[in-house]
Amino acid sequence: MASRTLGFMSAASPAPNGKRVLLAKPRGYCAGVDRAVVTVEKALEKYGAPIYVRKEIVHNKHVVETLRKRGVIFVDETSEVPEGALVVFSAHGVSPAVHAEAAARNLRTIDATCPLVTKVHKEVNRFARDDYDILLIGHEGHEEVEGTAGEAPDRVQLVDTPEDVDKVTVRDPSKVVWLSQTTLSVDETMERVRQLKERFPELADPPSDDICYATSNRQSAVKAMAAECDLVLVVGSRNSSNSKRLVEVALQAGAKDAHLIDYAREVDEEWLQDVETIGVTSGASVPDVLVLELLDHLAERGWKDVQEVTTANEKISFALPRELREEKARSGVR
Ligand code: SF4
Repeated sequence: MASRTLGFMSAASPAPNGKRVLLAKPRGYCAGVDRAVVTVEKALEKYGAPIYVRKEIVHNKHVVETLRKRGVIFVDETSEVPEGALVVFSAHGVSPAVHAEAAARNLRTIDATCPLVTKVHKEVNRFARDDYDILLIGHEGHEEVEGTAGEAPDRVQLVDTPEDVDKVTVRDPSKVVWLSQTTLSVDETMERVRQLKERFPELADPPSDDICYATSNRQSAVKAMAAECDLVLVVGSRNSSNSKRLVEVALQAGAKDAHLIDYAREVDEEWLQDVETIGVTSGASVPDVLVLELLDHLAERGWKDVQEVTTANEKISFALPRELREEKARSGVR
């Protein structure tokens, strides 16, 4: 690994060649992703391969490929899982219909849904019980949105684009609430809420933020450094909502250029032309080893000085699903 300085260079004392990396903190794995990945690893140890996982356990190519090599079979639907086999539900959550289908097929299940996604599911249930119309801000087709909306499909309407705001119809404008996907752009979501409130002034807010701490912290860290960056590189996969949002946030916050990459080898040499300051961050489903590989790649090209830009220290962790908890306590694994 090439040598580099981490956290010691100041913005006022750039490297002699003017090349520096600003490394966002927090970045990478959040508590929900860590829990989901460890859940699959522990399930493999406890029950042996093959383990079935419905959808990608987290939206990261590297993580999925690594688990596939260890004996995980990823499927799109529970109908692809042999009767009686073990299936893990991904961090993005599933609707009650998926649970029911798994039960009907006698599947053994472990639910790795992030507790912060489960929190939004519970909000949907609560507001549906109180007979509210629920406006769910989120990206059409995203697994999390499908699972959340599936809690009360006859009460939930999806609001993705500004045009969707005009299409919404509600039964009683005094009983409408907005909720959201956990991995959206904070600023864009608040803009959508503003538009919705123009139509429905009595629109109720969620009891607490649905956009999770990890999403908003990673966006804040990128915002803090973007204006100083000629280029921001976000490590993350194309199907990762929070990673894609980091690219958008970087550009909106003043970065001259920004790209999403799965691996260091995807850095286009042309992006580096006439660039001095490079911002680096990663989505919530990205193991830090991929960021370290990127830092090595950049160091080999002259960007040896790395300054960490810290905007928050995260200390959140979640207990493993019930089925694996005892195992965790015995082994002391993460
Ligand atoms: S991004 Fe947020 S909601 Fe999604 S898994 Fe991580 S902590 Fe949970």
